[in-house]
Amino acid sequence: MPLVNDCVFCKIIQGAVPSSKVYEDDLVLAFLDIAPFNYGHALIVPKDHHHSITTLPQEYLARMMCLAPKIAVAQMRELKAEGFNLLLNNGRCAGQEVPHCHLHVIPRLVDDAPLLNISHKKYSDTEAMNELAARLQKRVEL
Ligand code: 5GP
Ligand code: ZN
Repeated sequence: MPLVNDCVFCKIIQGAVPSSKVYEDDLVLAFLDIAPFNYGHALIVPKDHHHSITTLPQEYLARMMCLAPKIAVAQMRELKAEGFNLLLNNGRCAGQEVPHCHLHVIPRLVDDAPLLNISHKKYSDTEAMNELAARLQKRVEL
C-alpha cells in the first residue's frame, strides 16, 4: 500500500512531520517515540502504509526485525540500558493507537516497572492446553 495522507507515520516518512531520526534506508525508518517509556525509545516503521503486521510484505518485516537488535544495542551502549523490549501493538484492543504498523524498541533499566500489567491465566489441564495447540497448529503455515 502506498503512503497515505491522514497517517502521522506516513507524514513523518514523507518529511511533512518532523522526527528525530535514528536510522533510514529504502524500506524502513526509525525515529524516537515522542512520548517514550524510557529515553531512547524508538519506533521502526515500514515505508509502506499497512495497519497490520499481518498484511505487511515480508521484505519490510524482515528489515524491521533485523534492525531492531541493532537499535537495541545502540540504546544499551549509549544509555547504559541493561535490556530492551520489542513491542508491536496490533489492533485497537492490543493498544495500537497509530494505524501504521510499527515496532517499538524500548530500552530497559534495572528498576523499571513491568511493561504489561495483564495477570496470567491457567489452563484447566494439559489436555486442554494440547488440544488448543493442535487447533492453532492446523491454522499456522509459513
Ligand atoms: P501504539 O500505541 O500505536 O503502538 O504506539 C504509537 C506510538 O507512537 C506512541 O508511543 C506515541 O507516543 C507515538 N507517536 C504518536 N504520534 C507521534 C508523532 O507524531 N511523533 C513521534 N515521534 N511519535 C509519535
Ligand atoms: Zn501510514
